[in-house]
Amino acid sequence: MKMLLRGIAASPGIGIGHALVYRAVNLNSLERDVGDLEDEYRRYRNAVERFCTLREEKAAQLKAVGAETRAAILLAQAEMIKDPYLAGQVEGRIASYRSAEAALDEVCGSVVRQFLRAENELTRERASDIRDVRDGVLRQLLGVPEVDFSNMEPDTILVADDLTPSAMTALDPSIVAGIVLCRGGRASHSAILARAMGIPTVVGAIDALAWVVNGETLVVDGIQGEAYLEPDTAEMARMQEYQERYRKNRESLRAFVRKQARTADGDIVQLMATVGSESEGFLADEDGCDGIGLLRSEFLYLDRPSLPKEEEQFQVYRRFAQRKAGGPVVIRTLDAGGDKRMPGLSWDWEKNPVLGCRAVRLSLAYPDISKVQIRALLRAGAYGDVRILLPLVTGLDEVRGFKRLVEECQAELEERGEPFRAGLPLGVMIETVAAALTVDRFAQEVDFFSIGTNDLTQYTLAVDRDNARVAHLYSYYDPALLRLLKWVVRRVQEAGKPVCLCGQAPADPLFVPLLLGLGLDCFSVQPMSLLAARGSISLWTKEEGRRILEHALGLVTEAEVHTLLENCVRRI
Ligand code: PEP
Ligand code: MG
Repeated sequence: MKMLLRGIAASPGIGIGHALVYRAVNLNSLERDVGDLEDEYRRYRNAVERFCTLREEKAAQLKAVGAETRAAILLAQAEMIKDPYLAGQVEGRIASYRSAEAALDEVCGSVVRQFLRAENELTRERASDIRDVRDGVLRQLLGVPEVDFSNMEPDTILVADDLTPSAMTALDPSIVAGIVLCRGGRASHSAILARAMGIPTVVGAIDALAWVVNGETLVVDGIQGEAYLEPDTAEMARMQEYQERYRKNRESLRAFVRKQARTADGDIVQLMATVGSESEGFLADEDGCDGIGLLRSEFLYLDRPSLPKEEEQFQVYRRFAQRKAGGPVVIRTLDAGGDKRMPGLSWDWEKNPVLGCRAVRLSLAYPDISKVQIRALLRAGAYGDVRILLPLVTGLDEVRGFKRLVEECQAELEERGEPFRAGLPLGVMIETVAAALTVDRFAQEVDFFSIGTNDLTQYTLAVDRDNARVAHLYSYYDPALLRLLKWVVRRVQEAGKPVCLCGQAPADPLFVPLLLGLGLDCFSVQPMSLLAARGSISLWTKEEGRRILEHALGLVTEAEVHTLLENCVRRI
């Protein structure tokens, strides 16, 4: 192999083909002497009209083949350029004898800078739309043809620095076998579109343009976030087999898109999505889910120097509350500390941060910071089924302390005359042994439970979930975990409270029968695992699960449980 390019897994799948290196044309916004002002206005307006017509025509073609997401992006771009503020700014500059190209470039440049400074991730992403609109209109003004990907050979792997939304929408997914981009993250527009188009994609592969030459063989692994340049025969054979397995599996899972999750004998299972950004929420809707089972609100606090304000948080939570797909939205309060340090908070040194001032402990230690989030949640509750979830609780005092903060926030909102919903359902995560063993006591204070298997495994086994040296000891197959889960689920059922199980465990086909056997009927998994989880659930009855669980509970070591599950696993 010539080279292994590492990046971020942005759209799953294996793509094998030949590289096409794409370098964007530099559209110079030439300053020119403007003689006749009327002529210059006309040039600009004609260019805008041609740009909008092209976008609308392309959107109509895309809609006709069911590519709604891509069509909507193009139509939104046509609206952006017609925006009266933008048009006024450009024409105002033309009035002082700037060329239409320079005027447009300057105005769009300042909008892009404003967007990039925005606190909200989605607003920042809009900057690429504005650049795309600017380039499209500049092409019309300068007579440079639109990006044309129509003559690509089948099995092309497109390698580029970045691809604008319109360039992405110009791609034919039946021809493009994969994409490798130097820039971008999982939430970037190109990544979202690649997933919507089902093209295996790796983003953030910074060295890609420096290494790849047109025509070279490239294998894109959009599951691991890697690309193999000029693989040898053995590697190629391995990747082809992997591709075939992945393809067959995905094909059979398509049958589960937007279907209700059901066991083999027809019992309904609530399958919710665990998301950590707004774009992940959109992804969940593509495959369908019964609601948001866990919204990790940390994304609002990351990658920024200051803490998010109430209004910004409210807007995000409200958009979740009003999701077209409906269903409850369980929003977890800030789970900072431990492995998640937020730049907006000052941190004291802690010897054992994972056992230190984190999650709900941090929320209670900084009531003013927590109240900003609580007010935003209460306000969003007026727009939909918002529920509040507390991470890493160990005792009832924490719940009672948090409830006092909620009461204070309700009084403050009332005084401000702000619409909100009082008494939002409150739940706790069962992630510590203390919470697990006293779950019956919690049942008297809270409305619902969420079992966080990632942390529950960590704290039960005393194994750091992020430490590679002890990774072999971290396993929710451990008999200790099984006993604890059985205890928790039994007590919660006796109390008649709803419980959802989240973390990595419900996305594991080996573990699903045990979870059904425990009598659980609500799981929350990441969007990419929704179909696979539905598939696994459909293979088992609860009774079969119960039999395997009984057998597993009689075993002594993690390895024995693992072997048992391997021996009885069923796969789609
Ligand atoms: C968990 O601990 O299982 C969980 C879902 O929370 P996180 O992974 O965010 O800690
Ligand atoms: Mg957790």
